[in-house]
Amino acid sequence: MIYLDHAATTPTLAEVRDAMAVWSGIPANPSSVHGLGQRAAAAVERAREQVAALLGRPSSGIVFTSGATEANHQALRGLAAGARSVAVSQLEHPSVLGAIRASGLELIAVDVDVSGRAAVPEPCADVLCLMAANHETGIVQDLGAADRWMRAGRAVHVDATQAAGKLAPERLASFTTVSVSAHKLGGPMGVGALSLSSGAPFPPLLTGGAQERGRRAGTLNVPGIVGFGVAAEVATHARTNRQARWVPLQQELEVAVVALGGRLAGDAERLASHVCAVFDDVEGEIVVQGLDLRGIAVSSGAACASGSLEPSPVLLAMGDPAPSGGVRITLGPLTTEAEVSACVSALGPVLRAARAAL
Ligand code: PMP
Repeated sequence: MIYLDHAATTPTLAEVRDAMAVWSGIPANPSSVHGLGQRAAAAVERAREQVAALLGRPSSGIVFTSGATEANHQALRGLAAGARSVAVSQLEHPSVLGAIRASGLELIAVDVDVSGRAAVPEPCADVLCLMAANHETGIVQDLGAADRWMRAGRAVHVDATQAAGKLAPERLASFTTVSVSAHKLGGPMGVGALSLSSGAPFPPLLTGGAQERGRRAGTLNVPGIVGFGVAAEVATHARTNRQARWVPLQQELEVAVVALGGRLAGDAERLASHVCAVFDDVEGEIVVQGLDLRGIAVSSGAACASGSLEPSPVLLAMGDPAPSGGVRITLGPLTTEAEVSACVSALGPVLRAARAAL
């Protein structure tokens, strides 16, 4: 199987698996006073430093969670205290939109333009939610405009799940809260983090235990957190090399998509790992199934929405005329030139078959 769906999840790196295996065999609760417990606590603190470096943010503000979904919910729970309104666009991940609904904040809709970016207005709410890069298109959002909200004394939550390890950490440094997930960057599933800027009072989502300095109750997932730390460190060091490897592969895919009658979703800076093709005359789901039969895994949108056969909410928000025609091809740390060429070769026959069936 050729795996080109890394935005859904990335294979766990070998060095991450090795590090996790060590801690999977040790009965060590970081809250325990004995030596084993304290060793586990030290391993968690090392991972905290590694995740903080990935995000370019202080380690004291890192709270480990079960993933970015929980981190987004924790962010909104905290930011809602003392706030009344939140500005957000429909480009955001469903977990952010769900967290906003749960927060009870008044929602102020931010428009999206055809470039694939939310048109961030001048500060008009207490809180702004802006993802760093979109999960379907890879389009990098207007973090400069979000910075203006910070300078105006507003709170900004940035979902950096797709962007972490890909954008320079300096671009994430200033925001109130930043969420991230391990399994998008070679770490395990079910682990993530919320990075809090210092000082803000933050009512926890999960209560009843003193873990994470009272900011998230529940025994820590030591193997997962250690694995996340290793993945974060690898991503921090490999970021510019990965980027340089992906750019020509992305270009090869983009040229092929256009030559085969497709369009590229959006028109702004995008992550080098993402290609979001849109076909006006073919359902994205049919292309995904055709490629799958040829041993190539891609997706027609966000993994959490696939199978629903609903048009892509992201393409809809962008005003795309063919929101059901999206095909997302995403590259990972180990993607090879040969895998991309095989995908390019398969796309032609798959599209021909799909068009012939119309
Ligand atoms: N935000 C974005 C932008 C994502 O792409 C995802 C994963 N699809 C999430 C949040 C949720 O992450 P997790 O799987 O860790 O809950």
